[in-house]
Amino acid sequence: MAAKFQVGGHVSASGGLYRALERAQERELEAVQLFVSAPQTWRATKHTDADVEKFREMHAESGLGEVWIHNIYLANLATETDEQLEKSLGSVINAMQVAERIGAQGVVLHTGSHKGQGMEAVLEQVVGAIHTIFEQAPGDAVLALETMAGQGGAIGTYFEELGAIIGEVKSPRLKTCLDTAHTFAAGYAIHTPEGLDDAMAEFDRHIGLDLLAVIHANDSKIALGGFRDRHENIGDGHIGTSGFEAMAAHPAFQDKAWLLEVPGIASEEHPKGDGPDPENASRLKAIRDRVTVKKPSKKKAASR
Ligand SMILES: [Zn+2]
Ligand SMILES: [Zn+2]
Repeated sequence: MAAKFQVGGHVSASGGLYRALERAQERELEAVQLFVSAPQTWRATKHTDADVEKFREMHAESGLGEVWIHNIYLANLATETDEQLEKSLGSVINAMQVAERIGAQGVVLHTGSHKGQGMEAVLEQVVGAIHTIFEQAPGDAVLALETMAGQGGAIGTYFEELGAIIGEVKSPRLKTCLDTAHTFAAGYAIHTPEGLDDAMAEFDRHIGLDLLAVIHANDSKIALGGFRDRHENIGDGHIGTSGFEAMAAHPAFQDKAWLLEVPGIASEEHPKGDGPDPENASRLKAIRDRVTVKKPSKKKAASR
C-alpha cells in the first residue's frame, strides 16, 4: 500500500536556504518548495558550501519530506533570441546544480511559450535545451515540466505538449508537475471524479502516470476552461473541497508532495493573506485523512 501524499508548500528562502525549512515547520508543512535565486532576476544567488551543509543537516533533523526548487519565472526554453535562450539555460542549470548539492528531488520549470506558433515550431529547440541542461547538471535531480493555464501560448497547457517533449528527450530525469489550478483553468474537469478519471487517463496516454513527480495543490479563482492563472485557497475556488477530495482519492496522486502556492486566508495581521498558511495545510491534511484511496482503474480516455 503506497503512502498517502505529503502536504507541503512554497516558502521563502530569504536569509539563507535553511530558513525555508524553518518557515515550512512554522507553517505546519510536511514538504518544501523554494526559490534558490530571486525569481524576477537573471543573476544567480551564490550558495556557499557552509549554507548547503547547514541545509542538509537541518533537513535531515527536521522530519520534513521532499524538497523541490521552483525555477525563476524569466526562463523560456522556446524563446526566439539566442541571448534569452542562453540566460534561460543558465538559470535552469544553476537550479539543477543547487538541487543536486542540497539533495532536493528536482526543479519545477515553466517550460516557456510558443507564443501561438504551436509546439512544432519550437519542439526541436526545447528538446535540445533540455539535453544541454542534463549534460551541464549531471546527477539524479529531476526536471519537472509544469502544466500551465494557457496564458500567452504557454507550453504545458495541454498534456500532449509535455508528452511530445518527454517523448523526444527520452531521459528518466524528465518528469512533470501537475498544477491543479492551471490544469483546471486549461479545461480539464479535474474537480469531479469522472472528469478527473478522464483527465488522468489522458495524462497517462500522452505522458504516463509514472512521470507525474509532484503536485502544485492550488484552488482556482478562474472557472473551468478560463485559461488564466489565479490561485485560490483550498476549498474556496472553482475546484472546491469536493474536487480536492476526488484528487486525494485518486491513485495517481499518492506518494508524492502536494505543494501549496495559495494566497492564504486573510487575517488582521495579514489582510491579503500569508499563504501557504497553517489553515490551508490543515484543510488539505483533513481531506487527505478522511478520504479512501481508490484502486487504479482500467478506464481508457475518450479521445479529444
Ligand atoms: Zn509554477
Ligand atoms: Zn499558477
